[in-house]
Amino acid sequence: MITDTHTHLYSEQFDQDRDLMIQRAKDVGVSRFFIPAIDSSYTEKMLQLEATYPDDVFLMMGLHPTSVKLNYRKELAQVKDWIDKRSFYAIGEIGIDLYWDRSFLAEQQEAFRIQIQWAKEKNLPIVIHCREAFDEIFEILELEKGKNLYGIFHCFTGTLEQAHKAISYGMKLGIGGVSTFKNGKIDTFLNQIDIQHIVLETDAPYLSPVPYRGRRNESSYIIQVVNKLSVIYDLSYEEIAKITTENSKQVFGI
Ligand SMILES: [Zn+2]
Repeated sequence: MITDTHTHLYSEQFDQDRDLMIQRAKDVGVSRFFIPAIDSSYTEKMLQLEATYPDDVFLMMGLHPTSVKLNYRKELAQVKDWIDKRSFYAIGEIGIDLYWDRSFLAEQQEAFRIQIQWAKEKNLPIVIHCREAFDEIFEILELEKGKNLYGIFHCFTGTLEQAHKAISYGMKLGIGGVSTFKNGKIDTFLNQIDIQHIVLETDAPYLSPVPYRGRRNESSYIIQVVNKLSVIYDLSYEEIAKITTENSKQVFGI
């Protein structure tokens, strides 16, 4: 059994073949799909997905940093409404992204912090999106750290030192396609991180692993990541799948 802790199955990129794509993943043993939110424009599609696959699909709720724009307070209010109204498995994805646009940095910081506080109130994990913003993310984690702060540092692409730092704040590292890239770097030090801190993800439809790099990603491709980690950790394919699924259960409580 393999757990994809981060997959955007509701993406419009799957509108033509979503059911077949999900079946391909199930056929290779992926049976748990954790679905990060982006903003309110996708909520309806996420709920539909959950209704279609109630045993396999687990929803998160949150406002993605690249969706923190002028209307972010309205978006945040909707996140709050949802998490008060029904249960989710995490608050995510949330964080800071300075790659595309730095102009909303202050708003991104505020939205990140508020959503961390909601997660703590609800005793939920957070799923962090960090792009060119390690210092800014760590600054807020430092303010919010404690035993009720925990979750996943999604698509971890930092250094060994940053990995240790993320772990010290209660985060597991979400490892996906980047670990298979020639210039991805994390494969060079992952063996120095205890595998108990690792969970698997695809971030589909983005960040396809080798040999699909540059094409649309899908959850079945996670087997490339399992293969890569089994080389890095010198563990069998089955052990990698089992341990990382156990780790994901620790985070999500299911
Ligand atoms: Zn994502």
